[in-house]
Amino acid sequence: MTFKSLGLSNALLKAINKKGYLEPSAIQEKAIPLILEGKDVLASAQTGTGKTAGFTLPMLQILTTQSKWKRRPIRALVLTPTRELAAQVYNNVREYGEFVDIRSTVIFGGVNAKPQIKTLRNGVDILVATPGRLLDLHNQKALSLARIEILVLDEADRMLDMGFLRDIKKILALIPKKRQNLLFSATFSQEIKKLAGSFLYHPVMVEATPENTTAEKVSQKVYRVDKSKKTALINHLISDGNWEQVLVFTRTKHGANKLCKKMIGHGITAMAIHGNKSQTARTKALAGFKKGEVRVLVATDIAARGLDIPLLPHVINFELPNVPEDYVHRIGRTGRAGASGEAISLVSQEEKEYLRDIEKLLDQKIPSEIVEGFEPDATNTPEKKNPNRSRHQNFKRKGGNRNYKRRSSKRN
Ligand code: AMP
Repeated sequence: MTFKSLGLSNALLKAINKKGYLEPSAIQEKAIPLILEGKDVLASAQTGTGKTAGFTLPMLQILTTQSKWKRRPIRALVLTPTRELAAQVYNNVREYGEFVDIRSTVIFGGVNAKPQIKTLRNGVDILVATPGRLLDLHNQKALSLARIEILVLDEADRMLDMGFLRDIKKILALIPKKRQNLLFSATFSQEIKKLAGSFLYHPVMVEATPENTTAEKVSQKVYRVDKSKKTALINHLISDGNWEQVLVFTRTKHGANKLCKKMIGHGITAMAIHGNKSQTARTKALAGFKKGEVRVLVATDIAARGLDIPLLPHVINFELPNVPEDYVHRIGRTGRAGASGEAISLVSQEEKEYLRDIEKLLDQKIPSEIVEGFEPDATNTPEKKNPNRSRHQNFKRKGGNRNYKRRSSKRN
């Protein structure tokens, strides 16, 4: 299959060629012709599948071939959950649209709104935005959504996780009813299905890969270790293994900062990326990591979601996520673009249930090992600590002594 056979224009083929893509990815092959036909599309695709080009290329083609406006009203709106993803999608729009007469811009919070307003006043065809700043600027009458023809919801599941449902509903009420809708989501919870049902019109469902294809491509390992020895173990793995580019996940923002400090103390260049960091700090950390100046990027789930970090060989879960789907997203950061990757999880006694949930979701057991010198303290295991404990006592200890909240709604 070639990009040409998907029906894309020469100007877009030129841009694709410049990017060096040889053939369309699975999601592109399926989604592009449908979008060009004007269909509403419900796509199951996560980052790394080429989904951005999957919606951007046909969107650019539709907007260039059906242009009827002298002044440029916003005709396509792409909503993303995070600032980083918005910036990334915008970069893609610019790159793929290099040889067509389309103007685009991106708006998100955490930075000065004035330059954004100025660009909007000059007229743009495509607007990439996070929901909050979009509504903000709409309230200020800095933009109009009255001429939207195409709406894209990128990483819709994450938008709901982040509590954007109300904002999305408000935005839907501001845009014309007759439009083409594209919804991309890595997972399909009941909430996503409900949202999709509420605004997609006879959608065609496309799937990039089955749920756990990414998981299959990645070599996964669990290192059993005590919580107190995790920092020493991670430093050992990175230093002794000479790992150059490592993405480390922690469950909390505080945990990310703490680990980062300790790694720096150990002589490893590390930076944290999470919701409490300013936009400038997040951009700087990501840029440093991409350039290879920062060896370790410590991230929380939400901050890392959607980041395009190509060919990452190692992902370490310093702590397991309490939402099993997040594990799949995390390890999806390695083994991309056909390359193989390694995902290592440091799992302490307290996290055993999280591991069980993850293995249930993946429908596979993750091989578990112990690293020499970092053996877990056998007395930490409830069963081993006192073999004479009654079953009831053991049960109480297992259930009542957990440090982690289950499926907490508070996300980072
Ligand atoms: P995405 O899933 O949109 O975040 O894209 C993931 C990565 O794949 C990005 O670095 C894209 O530049 C790259 N990519 C997208 N489409 C293709 C393709 N057809 N061939 C090779 N790489 C691609």
